[in-house]
Amino acid sequence: MSAGTTDVINPSTEQVVATIASASAEETDEAVALAAAALPAWRAVAPADRARLLRRFAESVDDHLEELAWLEVANAGHTIANARWEAGNVRDVLHYYSAAPERLMGRQIPVEGGVNVTFKEPLGVVGVIVPWNFPMPIAGWGMAPALAAGNAVVLKPAEMTPLTAVRLGELALEAGLPEGVLQVVTGKGSVVGQRLVDSPLVAKIVFTGSTEVGRGIMAGCAQHVKRVTLELGGKNANIVFADADLARAAAAAPSGVFDNAGQDCCARSRILVQRSVYDEFMTLLEPAVTRIRVGDPGDEATEMGPLISAGHHRKVASYVPDDALVAFRGSAPDGPGYWFAPTVLAPVQTSDPAFTDEVFGPVVTVVAFDDEQDAVRIANDTEYGLSGSIWTRDLGRALRTARAVEAGNLSVNSNSSVRYSTPFGGFKQSGLGRELGPDALEAFTETKNVYIATED
Ligand code: NAD
Repeated sequence: MSAGTTDVINPSTEQVVATIASASAEETDEAVALAAAALPAWRAVAPADRARLLRRFAESVDDHLEELAWLEVANAGHTIANARWEAGNVRDVLHYYSAAPERLMGRQIPVEGGVNVTFKEPLGVVGVIVPWNFPMPIAGWGMAPALAAGNAVVLKPAEMTPLTAVRLGELALEAGLPEGVLQVVTGKGSVVGQRLVDSPLVAKIVFTGSTEVGRGIMAGCAQHVKRVTLELGGKNANIVFADADLARAAAAAPSGVFDNAGQDCCARSRILVQRSVYDEFMTLLEPAVTRIRVGDPGDEATEMGPLISAGHHRKVASYVPDDALVAFRGSAPDGPGYWFAPTVLAPVQTSDPAFTDEVFGPVVTVVAFDDEQDAVRIANDTEYGLSGSIWTRDLGRALRTARAVEAGNLSVNSNSSVRYSTPFGGFKQSGLGRELGPDALEAFTETKNVYIATED
């Protein structure tokens, strides 16, 4: 029996754009059973044919790129430029891992009296639990390597942003993926997501979301010693040294934190500036913030859309009380929609909740530091460790700082964190395991060792 329906709201207009089924625990079990039944045939598909199917799926995503992008504009309020990139990222990740089925190579290890080989076996049914902030890319990062390695996937999108995931599930079937190999089950985290965690038939959970829910998922997986990959929160530092190209660092800082309205686990929401150039940096930062175009995400010129929901708007606003030290802020539309102007808080104490918590909105804090050691100390003074940036012209300092900052994804003279061909994931409470890149397949396979005696 279904657990009812959920209205999907356009965060720019507050209008209902679709009503989607909320699956029950029993329906989740049925999907898992269908996935388990599809497994033997899927893992038996010849490597070149599995590769071909993934390429066809990628091409189908590309053929529907505009449709998917506009769905995300309506469902999540992402700017059309971002939404096109996100759909393109699903295509690219599928293409990247379509090369994997024919390259899932084991090893031959010298032993006495026989031959020893290793195989990379699929895990089985993989549950992929996706948050609302990047519905398409995060679905792709989980499902593409899982499918390439011969697993079946049950994908649960976030309650608020199911539309693109549902469409991707349809496109997979149209591209020829056998029924049951990739299923999208919409519904509540506490029902569908929890059932995937608890089900003995699910071999692995790939979870992206908040650190709090991630802890519970890890504990739930422990009951079955279930494999788990966690991509959790972040409170990332953007470290600007005095010898940096300050104009470039200041021009890039706003998109490093306000992209996707700050609803990005990699948002550089703590800017650390060397004290001797603090004033100069702030003078350069102000125009870069005030000129950000916030508004209709369907307008090609828009740089920032709304927050995802009224509830999330309230949470973000709580970090900017009336007496907050707002250094400057951009603008945002009036009227319907969950708009929040890009906001720069400075000077802040390093104990201020806006500096310590993942705000997940367009709010950035700026503090001054004295020297390299001080910068690293402040950057690492957090339970998180996902990403970060270092701006300097000194190569030695760049490398020393990059090695010293406790985070999984660092960039020098850039704020970019994500490339499908390189590993992505967190240190400390930002996560467990890595996605993307050449090694992600390790997270979707078990190594099997086989010894064959050759002596009489
Ligand atoms: P969330 O933790 O509330 O939900 C994430 C997903 O988990 C949703 O699909 C939700 O329905 C499901 N869920 C909720 N409770 C569950 C339960 N008990 N069992 C199983 N599933 C459950 O997170 P959110 O608010 O959707 O997303 C925002 C968070 O995601 C932020 O903290 C952000 O930093 C994080 N995030 C991390 C990364 C990364 O790669 N590290 C990427 C994007 C977002």
